[in-house]
Amino acid sequence: MSERQRAAKRHAAQAGFIYGGRRPFGWQPGPRVTDHAGRTGRRLEPHPVEHQALKDAVTLVLSGAGLREVAVHWQARFGITGHEGGLVSEQKVRAALISPRLVGYRQHQLPPHRRGVSVDPLDHIARTPDGEPVVSQEPVCDLATWHRIQAALRSRGTGVRNGWGTRAWLLTGLLWCPCGGPLAGVAQPQKPDADGHRVVRYVYRCKANRRHGAGTCTGGASITAPPAEQHVIDWLFEFFSSDRLDAHNMKAESAIAEAVARIDADLAVAGEELDVLREKASSLTVGTELHQIITGMIAHVHERIANLHDERVALTVEHPMPLTHQQLVAAWPTLNNESRRTLLRQLIHHIDLAPGRGHPAERLNIVLRSEE
Ligand SMILES: [Zn+2]
Repeated sequence: MSERQRAAKRHAAQAGFIYGGRRPFGWQPGPRVTDHAGRTGRRLEPHPVEHQALKDAVTLVLSGAGLREVAVHWQARFGITGHEGGLVSEQKVRAALISPRLVGYRQHQLPPHRRGVSVDPLDHIARTPDGEPVVSQEPVCDLATWHRIQAALRSRGTGVRNGWGTRAWLLTGLLWCPCGGPLAGVAQPQKPDADGHRVVRYVYRCKANRRHGAGTCTGGASITAPPAEQHVIDWLFEFFSSDRLDAHNMKAESAIAEAVARIDADLAVAGEELDVLREKASSLTVGTELHQIITGMIAHVHERIANLHDERVALTVEHPMPLTHQQLVAAWPTLNNESRRTLLRQLIHHIDLAPGRGHPAERLNIVLRSEE
């Protein structure tokens, strides 16, 4: 590039104008404008679909989603696909999320990702002669949020080195070891690499031997957490888009209807008991031993009725309506980790883990509540 070309590019960069290069995901070239300094050019303006897709991605990642989940959401909600109509690659999602463009900054080409070499994208943005970042397009989020995204991506083992911090441990309480014991989430810091970066490995591990003595668990099963969780999340989204969902919901609904019918029958019986006991009590002298026994029994029946009513409310009023696939796709980004665990638990009774080293798809057997 000649010095004249370089100067023209720098000039355009400082004015926030586009100067060649590929259109970044999320924005598109706007009309030609002239700024207060008399410079003419075109600026990036929000792409009608992709800009919102980036906003959703920010929400998703900050609530614990992985890159693939973002790609699934982009496809389901916006019809954004990668090559040949498949999911957008995780690398592309990641590239969009680590880009300072999200903050409105003008990003230069980042050096290619190299293992063990950390690149600060903020070192690769256009700045004014005073060193202030050039804001050249409408941001997706503010700088503080952008930093939170970077931290979230680092902590998720998405090609970036793992950081410290708490994980969601989405499958705690659901995963069962072949020995019948539960698997617990364990963070295993690895030896520091040449740069002193310490990678943390997150696994679900059976603790039966540690808790109940060696030999309690002969399976000794464990599984790396991120792919196992991703597999279950992918399974959830697939399940919700399949016709198995309708069958499951119908079964769940009829199970609820049966339970409610049982409670109503119990309530009727309790009501009759109460009538009989009250009649009996009214014929007795207050203060006698028998009267005390009968009033004690009445209090007991009252308690039983109150419990039955609570149970009925939990099954009917408080029971969430079954979600559709569309509702799940729309709701998932807004759910925190606790809600996600609850949602999985409402559907999944437990997940059997087979021993071995295979892919989660081969080792995890998801058992539905409606199949239990
Ligand atoms: Zn075990």
